[in-house]
Amino acid sequence: MQNRFAEDTAMSSYTHVLLATDFNEETIEVVQRARSIADQNKSTLSVIHVIEPISIAYAGEFPVDLGDIHRELEKQANLRLNQLAKELSIPEAQCFLEIGLTEKEILRVADEESIDLIVVGSHNKHGLSLLLGSTANAILHHAPCDVLAIRVPKISK
Ligand code: AMP
Repeated sequence: MQNRFAEDTAMSSYTHVLLATDFNEETIEVVQRARSIADQNKSTLSVIHVIEPISIAYAGEFPVDLGDIHRELEKQANLRLNQLAKELSIPEAQCFLEIGLTEKEILRVADEESIDLIVVGSHNKHGLSLLLGSTANAILHHAPCDVLAIRVPKISK
């Protein structure tokens, strides 16, 4: 008789894991779990960070060049992403630095790269963030694949 549990195990092995990172120190466990799952499954590990466009309407007397701020944000994010990729032995082609709405970009890349597991952190939310929902929640509801939401300590934003 065929072992249906063995079959299930094979079905649940992932080929391409996507780690979504906000570079927060408190989400180190999310990073470690993503690496370890990818290693266990002998799967490709990709990493994504999304920069949300700044949309501050400033009507004061000092002109602020949002382009400069954006360029600096991109530069810093690029450095952090390269550093993380190096620590996790992720090749450049598997690093995604995107600009847009965080959950939308993560879902788009997951779809385009045929990701079968997205790994995100999940915080205990409170106040406004509870009302607006979290990135993990949005991804969980719209992902084309499995999502692993790893509980991380509460972060005050
Ligand atoms: P939050 O919605 O801030 O509670 O974030 C939950 C999780 O979503 C984080 O632990 C990350 O895994 C992911 N995430 C949040 N912001 C970003 C971002 N800008 N780029 C990529 N992933 C993110």
